[in-house]
Amino acid sequence: MSDNSSVERLKHVQASVKRSASDYARDPASVTLIAVSKTFPAEDIEPVLAAGQRVFGENYVQEAKAKWPDLRQRYSGVELHLIGPLQSNKAKDAVELFDVIHTLDRPSLAEALAKEIAKSGKTPRLLVQVNTGEEPQKGGVMPAEVDAFLAACRSKYGLTIEGLMCIPPAEDPPSPHFALLNTMAKRNGLRWLSMGMSADFDAAIQMGATHVRVGSAIFGTRPKAA
Ligand SMILES: *Cc1c(COP(=O)(O)O)cnc(C)c1O
Repeated sequence: MSDNSSVERLKHVQASVKRSASDYARDPASVTLIAVSKTFPAEDIEPVLAAGQRVFGENYVQEAKAKWPDLRQRYSGVELHLIGPLQSNKAKDAVELFDVIHTLDRPSLAEALAKEIAKSGKTPRLLVQVNTGEEPQKGGVMPAEVDAFLAACRSKYGLTIEGLMCIPPAEDPPSPHFALLNTMAKRNGLRWLSMGMSADFDAAIQMGATHVRVGSAIFGTRPKAA
């Protein structure tokens, strides 16, 4: 993958995100592009940083820990988002490393995060992942349990939740899932909606996404499924 191609694809995606926002009468500044760099080594990420992108998403705590401290030393203003499943025993590292965690989805993790936040004094922004397709193999709170889980995050664990995140089932048209997530966020007074990936960020922006998570459309096809 040559440096130029990822930078060209980045510019193209940035322009598409802006155009989608305008098409749906939204302020382009209200949609944040998260460049998903999972599985790509630091040398593939650097050209994208050098081109000015500062918001990145990673799926694995260990991988991010290996790549980002060094990149952060060399590029200021990086904002790192955890978009993959988080084990409670990695909560400490996640709080240390990430500015935003998108995958809070169970009480035990809320408890672990609350503990690490209190200990470290760091306050990553938090989103609750919703399993809008109710898929057994996928993380996320079931739609019927979202309101109660959000209430527990606030009252029982003292956590501030910024918004909701979803990954629609691959075989479904995504828009109904995005619309459902938007409805649940509004009902709970939440501002952030993390939804939309390379294939469907236009539909997500139409449905109110504030954060789109775009990997392969920027970095190219990932070497392995992830
Ligand atoms: C990998 C991943 C993405 C990016 O997917 P692309 O199709 O490569 O854009 C977005 N969100 C999550 C949760 C992911 O795991």
